[in-house]
Amino acid sequence: MQFTDSHCHIDFTEFDAEFDSLLGKCAQQHIHRLIIPAVSPHYWQRLLTTCQTSQPCQLLPCLGIHPWFLTELNEQHLLALSAKVADHLNEIVAIGEMGLDGVIAEQQDNWAKQITFFEYQLYLANQVKKPVIIHHRRTHNEIISLLKKTPASCGGIIHGFSGSYQQAMTYIEMGFKLGIGGTITYPRAQKTIKAVSKLPLSSLVLETDAPAMPIHGEQGKHNTPLTLLTVFDTLCHLRSEPPEQLATALENNINSFLGNTG
Ligand SMILES: [Zn+2]
Repeated sequence: MQFTDSHCHIDFTEFDAEFDSLLGKCAQQHIHRLIIPAVSPHYWQRLLTTCQTSQPCQLLPCLGIHPWFLTELNEQHLLALSAKVADHLNEIVAIGEMGLDGVIAEQQDNWAKQITFFEYQLYLANQVKKPVIIHHRRTHNEIISLLKKTPASCGGIIHGFSGSYQQAMTYIEMGFKLGIGGTITYPRAQKTIKAVSKLPLSSLVLETDAPAMPIHGEQGKHNTPLTLLTVFDTLCHLRSEPPEQLATALENNINSFLGNTG
């Protein structure tokens, strides 16, 4: 069995000290591909350079602007994103991480700015024919209505999916896959767990969101892509398919996501 972490931030400086050993361990555990969304213009070049260097696992970069990182950014940074994407179109696999975060909107009073940055990145992805990676927090309704206005023509991943079966199916019908991560290891996440247990297998991809989103029992610790195997084990308990069949399907789903890239 082989695995892909569809969402982790191992380009962050907090991984510097363990970077080589961590990737070595991922390769040993058959985590052979890592998709790394970008969060802020400050990290773009560092991320691209890391992914260009030979590594024991395949590192697949994305370019985008995360809704947590908008302070100090302005519309010039959106133009810079378009230029950077054009320069690295063959290297990147998606536009993201983009999205809407309801908690940050309250804390920073930046809802309108979040919408501007999200819509721009949706347009950009369609223009360059790339899928999108979308962050959500208390914003399913707003994201769904923006996606109805501007459908993501190459689909994408709803990262760190948590929500109901109905919300999941709405995204799936719009061409999205759902990023299944540490949330399903928390017994309190019953709504998400129930949804994931019966969603179409063709819609699921695994992720860790490392260093964020630690699995149950590891709260407060720094998360790594190695916890992908715990997420997979948890998923195996929720689903009726045997592990080999699940693993093969999850890899095929990533291939189809990557196949959507231009
Ligand atoms: Zn992320």
